[in-house]
Amino acid sequence: MAHKIIDTCILCGACEPECPVNAISVGDDMYIIDEALCVDCVGHHDAPACVAICPTDSIIKA
Ligand code: SF4
Repeated sequence: MAHKIIDTCILCGACEPECPVNAISVGDDMYIIDEALCVDCVGHHDAPACVAICPTDSIIKA
């Protein structure tokens, strides 16, 4: 399991600093999540931190 960012991302950058495992980085057209690194915030937060902060609801389960 992991999370991914979909094409409604507006490149605001809010999610990047929220990730406890530094799985989020900026891509060409949107931010991207390295699914090999994402742990769904288990052991860090009660719910995925990036999902909570995203203003366009662009982060979903992969
Ligand atoms: Fe990072 Fe958590 Fe989002 Fe996964 S769900 S990318 S661990 S902030």
